[in-house]
Amino acid sequence: MINRRKFVQSAAITSMAFLADKDVLANKKNSTLKNYPIVVSTWEEGLNANKAAWNILSNNGRALDAVEQGVMVTESSKNCCVGLGANPDRDGFVTLDACIMDENFNCGSVAFLERIKHPISVARRVMEKTSHVMLVGSGAQQFAIAEGFPLEEQKLSEEAQQSYNNWLKTSGYQPNKNNKENELFAPSTLENGDLNHDTIGMIAMDMNGNLSGSCTTSGMGFKMRGRLGDSPIIGAGLYVDNEVGACTATGQGEDVIRVSGAHAVIELMRQGFSPEQSCKKIIERIVKIKGDKAKNIQVALLALDKQGNVGSFCIQPGFSFAIRNNVSEKLIVSKSWF
Ligand code: ASP
Repeated sequence: MINRRKFVQSAAITSMAFLADKDVLANKKNSTLKNYPIVVSTWEEGLNANKAAWNILSNNGRALDAVEQGVMVTESSKNCCVGLGANPDRDGFVTLDACIMDENFNCGSVAFLERIKHPISVARRVMEKTSHVMLVGSGAQQFAIAEGFPLEEQKLSEEAQQSYNNWLKTSGYQPNKNNKENELFAPSTLENGDLNHDTIGMIAMDMNGNLSGSCTTSGMGFKMRGRLGDSPIIGAGLYVDNEVGACTATGQGEDVIRVSGAHAVIELMRQGFSPEQSCKKIIERIVKIKGDKAKNIQVALLALDKQGNVGSFCIQPGFSFAIRNNVSEKLIVSKSWF
């Protein structure tokens, strides 16, 4: 007769056998080539950001420096979807979220930060100079100023001012909480499957085979004041485990948080699934949770494993990611659920 202990053991063996499916075995076979240094980042803006990261990686620099300086390019670009030039919240203020993680599980994050140009660098200071992981709002701003970051003028970029004026005309200043049936990235904001996205996530591996990641955003345009998405949350918008890989997310942050998106992808990679298979499984999970509403949202996941293999998967077509390594510099269109 099988006792409970044996049953648990045999169930574990069965489930391990199940996990060692043909995909996992194929991944193991293909994983011996050295394919790093490498940097990958979300959306077209990633191409420029990758150039700055590559300058560091190709000179034997650290992945952590690469992912910080890479996304600083996007934070600086005027009229971009990220940084102080981006769309404000529904009260007309730009509020920024960012996080960073290195190869030793060190991590730092800032959220609801106003008037500071480089939230990613403040996140790094939180990681390196405090015993905390997250600082938010006026406390994060106070820390940034104390660290020497200049306080920028509170002024919207021309483009952001224009889209805010347009939004005010039609929105009726409706908070999303009165609108629970609507998804945050409603179909009208999905153009050709793209969304009015506001994030750059970057993951990299340096010449020493060490991984790091960064994620920075102004969050969803015209969000409720105080709203945070996945991007500053370690485990949701970004996760790095130097033995396994790194993952970052973009899209409707609420649905990434629900499944601890980036961390969930890493755990699948730990079990032997490839970056793409892992991203796909978590996107499937979100689609299942959302049911009919899945057609109205975009979430994209992008992952890199310890061998330098890259994979991604998203809900709607239209998400692309930028890749830079010794052999290529290109934009790749992600596979999607729909
Ligand atoms: N994930 C971001 C957020 O929910 C938005 C985006 O990626 O576009 O704040």
